[in-house]
Amino acid sequence: MRYDVIIIGGGPAGLGCALTFASSQGRGWQWAEGRKFLVIDDGKSDLHKAMLNNVPGVSIGTKGSELLEQIREQIKSLSENVEFIEDTALRVEGDKGNFKVHTKSGNVYEADYVVLASGFHKFEIECEGAEVIDNPKSPKPGRVMIKHDGDYKVRDGLYVAGLLAGLSSMYAAAAGSGVQVAINILSEWAGKPIVIHDVLPDKD
Ligand SMILES: Cc1cc2nc3c(=O)[nH]c(=O)nc-3n(C[C@H](O)[C@H](O)[C@H](O)COP(=O)(O)OP(=O)(O)OC[C@H]3O[C@@H](n4cnc5c(N)ncnc54)[C@H](O)[C@@H]3O)c2cc1C
Repeated sequence: MRYDVIIIGGGPAGLGCALTFASSQGRGWQWAEGRKFLVIDDGKSDLHKAMLNNVPGVSIGTKGSELLEQIREQIKSLSENVEFIEDTALRVEGDKGNFKVHTKSGNVYEADYVVLASGFHKFEIECEGAEVIDNPKSPKPGRVMIKHDGDYKVRDGLYVAGLLAGLSSMYAAAAGSGVQVAINILSEWAGKPIVIHDVLPDKD
């Protein structure tokens, strides 16, 4: 079970990241084509408790759970190269190009890159180089983040997104950071800065 990128956490940050990877497929980009992605999630996103009135572009009164399901469907309709498993990551070992993620069910998944997007309540994953500190943007005490270089890199091949990257607990901020992490990794593969834009067909 080998992937290019494993994303730990399937909340807004993890799914924002996965959606961006999915949208990199089928474009004829040789450096992106056929890459495989895995989202490991144990289903406890804060968004399940939310009713949303202030997420840009999302209808007022949308339930958080519905939005998460909608994004998963969006990912699946863009690419078959993103897999989802329900499990808890316990340990991340190794380095860029050779990470191993051990899960509660006893499985081990391998990847070139790992993205940590497991929220800010606690960080109990054994992971070399992940330095846990207080999350300064949380109004409530005891919330955590992982130190990064200011552009979500923890160390080579290891990234952090969402509230665990020290963002305020707002959906769009969390999802946006997941998008940025995917773009950072895709840009590394491309060897130049990239964006992914779809454009309207030409009018006659
Ligand atoms: C009651 C409530 C109402 C809210 N209302 C709003 C609102 O109106 N507007 C707004 O913008 N925001 C709102 N939010 C905030 C929003 O839900 C969060 O900002 C957002 O969910 C954070 O996204 P995240 O992906 O960083 O973390 P999370 O959503 O917490 O996702 C983390 C995911 O990682 C998984 N995970 C954790 N550890 C592991 C592990 N070891 N292995 C595998 N998976 C793991 C969790 O199960 C979870 O699915 C609300 C939050 C709450 C609690």
